[in-house]
Amino acid sequence: MADKQNSILLSLREIIEEVSTKSSFEDTVTTLVEKIRKAANCDCCSLYLLNSRKTFLCLEATDGLQKESIGKVMLQVGEGLVGLVAKKQELLNLADAPSHPNFKYLPDVGEDEFMSFLGAPVINQGELLGVLVIQSKESRQFDAQEETFLITLSAQIASIIAQNKSVKENTVEYNGKRYKGKTGSGSIAIAQAVVWKPPVTFETATIMYSDDKEIQSELFHQTLFQLQTEMDLANLRLQETSHNTASSGYMSGYGSLLDDTTFEDEVDSEIFNQGFVATSAIKVVAQRRIDKANDENHPDKVSDIRDFASILISRLVHLSPSDTDLTVPIVIVVKSMPAALVAEMPHNKVAGFVCVDNATSSHTAILARDLGIPAVIDVNIDLDEVDGKTIIVDGQNAEVIVEPSSSVVDEYMQLISQRRELHDLFEAVKFEKAISQDGKRITVQLNAGLSHEDDDLAQQTDGIGLYRTEIAFMLSNTLPTEEQQISWYKGLLTQFKDLPVCMRTLDIGGDKLLPYLPIEDSQNSALGWRGIRVCIDQPNILKSQLRAMIKANIDTGNLDIMLPMISRLEEVLIVKRILNESYNEIVEELGHEIPRPRLGVMIEVPCVAFILDELAAECDFFSIGSNDLIQYLFAADRTNQKVSKIFDPFNPAAVRCLKYLKDKCDATGKSIAVCGEQAGSTTGSMLLMSLGYENLSMNYSQIARIKYIVRNINLEELQEIGRTALTLNSSAKIKSLYVEYAKQKGLSTVIDPKNFIDVDDRS
Ligand code: PEP
Ligand code: MG
Repeated sequence: MADKQNSILLSLREIIEEVSTKSSFEDTVTTLVEKIRKAANCDCCSLYLLNSRKTFLCLEATDGLQKESIGKVMLQVGEGLVGLVAKKQELLNLADAPSHPNFKYLPDVGEDEFMSFLGAPVINQGELLGVLVIQSKESRQFDAQEETFLITLSAQIASIIAQNKSVKENTVEYNGKRYKGKTGSGSIAIAQAVVWKPPVTFETATIMYSDDKEIQSELFHQTLFQLQTEMDLANLRLQETSHNTASSGYMSGYGSLLDDTTFEDEVDSEIFNQGFVATSAIKVVAQRRIDKANDENHPDKVSDIRDFASILISRLVHLSPSDTDLTVPIVIVVKSMPAALVAEMPHNKVAGFVCVDNATSSHTAILARDLGIPAVIDVNIDLDEVDGKTIIVDGQNAEVIVEPSSSVVDEYMQLISQRRELHDLFEAVKFEKAISQDGKRITVQLNAGLSHEDDDLAQQTDGIGLYRTEIAFMLSNTLPTEEQQISWYKGLLTQFKDLPVCMRTLDIGGDKLLPYLPIEDSQNSALGWRGIRVCIDQPNILKSQLRAMIKANIDTGNLDIMLPMISRLEEVLIVKRILNESYNEIVEELGHEIPRPRLGVMIEVPCVAFILDELAAECDFFSIGSNDLIQYLFAADRTNQKVSKIFDPFNPAAVRCLKYLKDKCDATGKSIAVCGEQAGSTTGSMLLMSLGYENLSMNYSQIARIKYIVRNINLEELQEIGRTALTLNSSAKIKSLYVEYAKQKGLSTVIDPKNFIDVDDRS
């Protein structure tokens, strides 16, 4: 019994693992039915899927029935045994299927020989996708373990099918072949695909010998020198073209290898002592270093060394993507490509970039994103199949479409121009204030994590509504000192010197961990030791942060301090005591008065709603962390896709809660802002404004879009909609109020998710 269970579990895992690696929908479902039939030791396994309009079930894959029936057998929900399983959404286990009143004889399907039938509904996030069936020639009842096997399997494959099914439906509809990648960046590119395949790579370089040792060494040094010069140029070009601060230093891994004279010496020694040709010597030396880095568990170093050696080897055989003759922009498709080669590609001629492997994905993907090149990485595509064909690279959805029909190209062209138009609309209001058509002012603030170096950032925002201090802590190798923190905070306070800057105390725990401060917590970390709870239990960390903040604020006086994850009044009192203590100590140290920061409480844990009066007496302002508030309000993990439907700001409970909080805070006389994702979402921000919220804080990429929305709505009209929303009983009804209003105000393309793309992304 236990053996059978173990083997079932093993089969389950193997099936899921194997199926997950398939890239096309056909491969996925074909493999699925074959594997299940074998694992269940039965004679037939078939998968029927509901069509997109949910009108009938179609045989999608079978191992046992006539293959010719695939795509042809259609059953309505309720029709036949399969239709019955779909209708009731229950398991059906029959020893003698043909004698069941619902049995439907289908000619030419080859079902005649099967007696027993076990069917299970395939349900993903509450939505029926289809029916999975196993059948046996022998007339027998399937046992409880077989039932469990099928139920568990159908639950596990549901999300895989859901993902692939939507891609497939699109494929049929769009008449082009779609491939899903793991990472995407940038906007959309449509161009001819050019596959770049180096004839020799690090992996394929063979060991060869030469008597011309001097020449081999000379070749190696020349190549190295040339590469050094080009890398410097590429770095310069990068600094000119990239708009993100993060772009510097991608080449640092190669840079250090380029400057490493021991690498040169070792390669020379292999050439002179072993008689290797230059490419072989490089391979041998690099392999030695890779082995060492592997032993020391430095995967980043491994990929840097491999990339670097690959570049040198390909240079030595005279090949570089910049040699590719480019007269018109193309999409470069490669198996793998080191970041340095991406950097040296002629950017104005590369419309997009597709990479099959993920081995170099971290550097390559980040670099592509920084350069604004639409890119899809880690996509299972056949290089020979795509070469020379028209290809669409949709970086935002991490999707590649090969040979799209002209209607698809038209649709994407339209999308590109729509995004361009939107981009121009948003650009035009970037420096404007968010004032509604009826003259009401909404403050639009920035959620910041790292310091932003754009000079004009302060002119684009009404200040910082949330500075997540933990991000700087996360990028540090050790706990930062007070001095270090002062310099971080001072930089930001000075950059925004005439505007309020709201800094949140360290919010770690949950999914945010510091490498140097282990948080041993229960599995249920979202409900555990996080946010203010950690700071209160580690008062030294809190005190040093508060002292750094107060000191950083001395010259500018624009600091607000905000506390995350507050659930009890006592927590605020403790922090206030430490804040006052720190403030008084600093005043005493300096011997003169200094600006005193205001103190705010984040509303993230729902219980806070019931102690707002007491909290208001102790703080200066409130700010809603809607990400956590909604997560805790609905007990729905904000990172879990399976419950994303429940995590819903348009749910009547969320809407009424938000209204209650706004009214209650108004009654206390304390201001209230919203700094979670909802504030930066198009319809989400409209909902908030309709409930009376006037202070919204969001990520940089959303600021111009939200300003544009505010400038095109009438706040009084929107507040009327808010009053209606409070009377409705479903999320769908509430959401459609805002969608309809947006349409009325000419904002439909602005709120369309297809158009959600960072405003600074290149189209
Ligand atoms: C929030 O919870 O909405 C919030 C702003 O904080 P974080 O997303 O950093 O938890
Ligand atoms: Mg939060």
